[in-house]
Amino acid sequence: MKDWGYSILKGRQIDFENNDFSISKFVAQHEPSSKWCISCGSCTATCSAAKFTSFNPRKIYLLIQRGETKGLAEEVALCMLCGKCQLVCPRGINTRNVIQNIKRALNSYHAL
Ligand code: SF4
Ligand code: SF4
Repeated sequence: MKDWGYSILKGRQIDFENNDFSISKFVAQHEPSSKWCISCGSCTATCSAAKFTSFNPRKIYLLIQRGETKGLAEEVALCMLCGKCQLVCPRGINTRNVIQNIKRALNSYHAL
């Protein structure tokens, strides 16, 4: 990383050079609407699983775009695939299929 004479706090850094983008690429290939997310959070506000757990679909979509996939398998396992998030997404994203493709990508590229 270039030395600018100052640095961002470690916890807030996104390491685009070394992060794993295989999952976001896989998801975008199989569900192109995944690229339209504007992180509005409507899906999380409506999510059945988020009401009872720490599950946060908006955060998951953001993290895969950043290539930050640590703990992703445990997170997506909380999704019940009910599809409520898809009904409220203002961008018309097939959010349920995004989650399913994240699971498929995890099975393809990473041992669950
Ligand atoms: S509701 Fe749609 S646009 Fe908003 S955060 Fe969720 S997936 Fe992204
Ligand atoms: S499909 Fe998954 S992410 Fe969407 S509302 Fe249902 S439990 Fe939440």
